[in-house]
Amino acid sequence: MRNIIVIVILCLLLSMGLGFDVELNYKHNLSVCALLISLFLLSGNKNIKLYFILPLLVLPVIYFTTGMVYGRLNNGILMSLFETNIRESLEFITVIPMLFIFLNILLLIVLILYVGYVEFKFNKRLIYVGLVLFVISPVGDFYKKVSPLSALKESETLKESLLIKPSWDITANHSKYDDYVLIIGESMRKDYMSAYGYALNTTPFLKKTNGFFLDGYLSTSPNTTTSLPRTLSISDFKNVEINNTIITLANKSGFDTTWISNQGFVGEFDTAISMVAQRSKNKFFLKLGGSKSRNINDAAILPIFAKELNKQTTKKRLFVLHLMGSHPNFCKRIKKDIYNLDNQQLSCYLSSYTATDNVIKNVINKLKERKRSYSLIYFSDHGLNESGTEQDSQLHIGNKHLSNYSIPFIRLSSDDTRRITVKNNVSAFHFLSIFSDWIGVKTKQIPDFDIAKKEKYVYVFDWNKMIEVNTLLLDPTIVVPIK
Ligand SMILES: [Zn+2]
Repeated sequence: MRNIIVIVILCLLLSMGLGFDVELNYKHNLSVCALLISLFLLSGNKNIKLYFILPLLVLPVIYFTTGMVYGRLNNGILMSLFETNIRESLEFITVIPMLFIFLNILLLIVLILYVGYVEFKFNKRLIYVGLVLFVISPVGDFYKKVSPLSALKESETLKESLLIKPSWDITANHSKYDDYVLIIGESMRKDYMSAYGYALNTTPFLKKTNGFFLDGYLSTSPNTTTSLPRTLSISDFKNVEINNTIITLANKSGFDTTWISNQGFVGEFDTAISMVAQRSKNKFFLKLGGSKSRNINDAAILPIFAKELNKQTTKKRLFVLHLMGSHPNFCKRIKKDIYNLDNQQLSCYLSSYTATDNVIKNVINKLKERKRSYSLIYFSDHGLNESGTEQDSQLHIGNKHLSNYSIPFIRLSSDDTRRITVKNNVSAFHFLSIFSDWIGVKTKQIPDFDIAKKEKYVYVFDWNKMIEVNTLLLDPTIVVPIK
């Protein structure tokens, strides 16, 4: 019995430490089962345990606390382990909970017990099965992910982008507020927000608050990795000036800049945004790999934001908070489905709106407590479109519908006295103009832009070409029964 307990604990701790969360993920669970069975099958062979299993488990044991915090090994974690400059430039979650340290010691103890004392006798041929299962277990997955070359390539890409110096020519600098907060994220369509008239009260805080609401803001492009670099940098649709971004402009204008992200740090979809983020003075990434790494609730951003906000300073500051928000898969983003609609996807999607609304409310409360003047802008990365039915919603990324681009744009400031909504189609390609006007900085590079002025043609980038928004298809908003 004692031997069985040792093996089970060893298997569970190893799986947890390697980022295989015990959740309803059948691939993870199969992999954990493979490890469990292989530990049983191989326990009878002293040589295999001493010269195969033990050496292979040294790194996973060392990795344990990192894995408990950041999940499965990925390029971002590898980069931070091997590259001091990246480790130093990112503020890590440095306080490792005592519980994780205790579990790490426990892991070491059960590993020693397993190698030294645990023994189950099986048919010799089953050892081969054990070896195969060990290879496809979380331990095998860990070694499969050790790819220093591709991690190195990603870090080179990031470093190279840093070499291009910004070319800002600042002609005026009179910012009105002390703290500026830009909240971005994620797949929120404007039409499902009660703040923009949706009947179900999905955004109770934004529905009531004073502030400026632009009705007609359009993301540059219909997915994050294309949209945000074009929004946050000087860009025509083809080129993005990775040196001339909101961050380098704020830095040059004397702001203290802080970036807190719940999206990924490096990976196919994240490196392009990290190129903008990495020039911030303070950087916090809750996920080091791609945005598909371990799921973390956006609320985890709040304590980091509060800590940074409450630091003593006389400087002007810019905080950028990048949320996971309503990123598919919606049900994973929320703590609870608060609407319980028959249409479960839509129900989770709308619940994630309320979660984001709550994050914004919390940020505003913290800003009020800080008693410095502030202004906050919120918009999402992009929208989504529907391809299902009213009963079975299938919201996803696409490029043909207006709703793929139609996102909220909200500005809430400490001196707001009323609520203003302006109806006008404005492409996020103008965001740098809007941003520089917001922080009170004028440059030779960025043209003036009036958010209320009607433009004859408004364009977005549909991944292939610039497209006039009036030619986009319409995607009706699903009306849900209000209980
Ligand atoms: Zn996205």
